[in-house]
Amino acid sequence: MTKLKFAVLPGDYIGPEVMSEALRVLVAATAPAGLELDYEIAPVGGAGIDEQGQALPDSTLQTCRQADAILFGSVGGPKWENLPPQEQPERAALLPLRKAFGLFANIRPGLLYPELTDASPLKSERIPEGIDIVCIRELTGGIYFGQPKRTTQLDNGEYQAIDTMVYQTSEIERIAEVAAITARGRGGRVCSVDKANVLETSVLWRKTVVNYFAEKHPDLELTHMYVDNAAMQLARDPNQFDVLFTENMFGDILSDEMAVICGSLGMMSSASLGVQRNGHGHPFGLFEPAGGTAPDIAGKGVANPCAQILSGAMLLRYSFGQEELAHRIEAAVRATVTKDGLRTGDIAFGREPVGTKAMADAIIARLAR
Ligand code: NAD
Repeated sequence: MTKLKFAVLPGDYIGPEVMSEALRVLVAATAPAGLELDYEIAPVGGAGIDEQGQALPDSTLQTCRQADAILFGSVGGPKWENLPPQEQPERAALLPLRKAFGLFANIRPGLLYPELTDASPLKSERIPEGIDIVCIRELTGGIYFGQPKRTTQLDNGEYQAIDTMVYQTSEIERIAEVAAITARGRGGRVCSVDKANVLETSVLWRKTVVNYFAEKHPDLELTHMYVDNAAMQLARDPNQFDVLFTENMFGDILSDEMAVICGSLGMMSSASLGVQRNGHGHPFGLFEPAGGTAPDIAGKGVANPCAQILSGAMLLRYSFGQEELAHRIEAAVRATVTKDGLRTGDIAFGREPVGTKAMADAIIARLAR
């Protein structure tokens, strides 16, 4: 039996609730295919602070290092919000994990089923078929990390602050490759977003992307868009995109805009892929819901497990090369929500809501059909 070895970091508040349901679904999907899930659960975030005094305990990092991927819940919440900023669960757990595994590519599907368009702030007539796009953000370069980065006082007493946006061709090429691979599994269209009319880094970005696609992926459709226009086009007609990819800060903003347009956080998954290849020859990755720990509904058994389940499907796809199984899980979630009509409170829109476990049970039943 092939073993899929991954670390499970449920985190805080609804994190463990949705994680246990996602694991049940993953077992139900993989067992019939002769795959064994070999996972180890470790504390992270507030749970890490409470159990071992650190948001990312050394033992948890060790568990991750021995694994081929990480399935992450979400971390943080009111219990720890008075800690200093550098000790906040999100910052003290996710940033070191990104650094430890060189997680350079953040992939966020922007998926909204036609039956759920009420969840979107866009008018339903604008998105009669729902939304189905992917936003890819470069995660380790650009202005958030470039040096120099400092505030100084000038001779006239004024303060001056500097951030530096910096990119190298290799960083641009590796994110372009992730965009190309993602587009290959979809509509084959890639839109590279930059600000090449103003920024030097964007001029290099565009030139590198053009050359890279001409050499490696000439069959894919490549277009370019300035970031200000991309922000408008996302709100106007999101489905004109198939896969859009961009640098760190632009991606931070566009991926959040996309999340709002797509409605409920309870449905949104994400993947962050690293520089290393794992024991299966695929990228090491961290897979997590796009939303947070939802303290307002934690402990009630009502959280939507779909984002965590769909993150598990992404783990199978990207870190274990199990495209078909990933697709089966995604189809089961879709059918449960749209055909069976099961809805947790966040996507109920007047229907009788079901709880976390009932939702997962229905998805497992769909998988068995
Ligand atoms: P949130 O995403 O936790 O919640 C926002 C709203 O969405 C809430 O009304 C919540 O009930 C709802 N929601 C989110 N996920 C849901 C789900 N699966 N099912 C049903 N409803 C869902 O954002 P917040 O309230 O701003 O943050 C709460 C905590 O989570 C904070 O401590 C924040 O720092 C943390 N956070 C962590 C991550 C992460 O771990 N990556 C990401 C974002 C926020």
